[in-house]
Amino acid sequence: MELESIAYHQGAYKALSECKVNMATHALQYGTMVFGGVRGYYNEDRKNLFLFRLNDHFQRLHRSARIMQMQAPLSAEQMIDIALELARRNQYRKNVYFRPFIYKSALQLSPRLHDVEDDFAMYTIPLNDYLDTSRGMRAAVSSWRRIDDNIIPTRSKASGGYINSALAKSEAVQNGFDEAIFLDTRGFVSEGSAENIFLVRDGALITPHLAASVLEGITRRSIIQIAKDQGIEVIERDVGRTELYIADEVFFCGTGAQLAWVAEIDRREIGDGEIGPITQRLRDIFMRTVNGENDDYRDWLTPVYK
Ligand code: PMP
Repeated sequence: MELESIAYHQGAYKALSECKVNMATHALQYGTMVFGGVRGYYNEDRKNLFLFRLNDHFQRLHRSARIMQMQAPLSAEQMIDIALELARRNQYRKNVYFRPFIYKSALQLSPRLHDVEDDFAMYTIPLNDYLDTSRGMRAAVSSWRRIDDNIIPTRSKASGGYINSALAKSEAVQNGFDEAIFLDTRGFVSEGSAENIFLVRDGALITPHLAASVLEGITRRSIIQIAKDQGIEVIERDVGRTELYIADEVFFCGTGAQLAWVAEIDRREIGDGEIGPITQRLRDIFMRTVNGENDDYRDWLTPVYK
């Protein structure tokens, strides 16, 4: 964390080291914060930083807040302006990740949602790969079930829900795997600890539908769009655990993960253990798109510099 980077907190731009909250803050005590994660990709040839699907990210942040009965103090457009301003103030000329969030900022003792004041803040961090995308992931089905929408809403990107992700991620890594795959409370495949999951079977792209306790991923939406434009059949449906083992290809996707292919699940090789052709094609198009090298999806990018 670069403590002298410029962040936005309590209505002002200041050094991250000066952005402090009181220890009695409601969000710290109860996990009552909703957040987003946005990537910016620096294109050396174009000398510009491209932010990916800003509108979708900030709309989702607002929807997350609505589920949690939060009053977003700023509109999505105002938040987008702050993201662009942060990029400029930090003079970023490298890949960067933005972490905007709305949190219950009041010093309030009772775990409730109503009548607790909210605030908005954002910080940034330079970020390249989150998962190592140069090799296949070794994944394991988690012994932890994905939280259900009726337990902690998964459609709201709420910090409290990430205890579930942290439990699964640590279990996977401490058992020697790279990533966890959650089953939902019904026993169907849900998603990874912080990314959506896709399978390829007989040339079709399959992913758990949005009622399988998944986050409505913006990368997921982008991959579905790209696949359809490529003439690939896309099916959103329930996926059984053992379908993972017999899939031709499997990959994770998310803002952090980007598109990370899976080589092995529960010690069963996926396909021939190499990146599959459909995964390769989607990853190439996706990475060219986010890096500002694909005019087909130019409206997904916002350039930071004039
Ligand atoms: N699921 C979970 C639980 C996540 O934390 C993320 C990362 N935001 C995703 C899926 C992927 O969502 P997105 O593509 O919008 O980053």
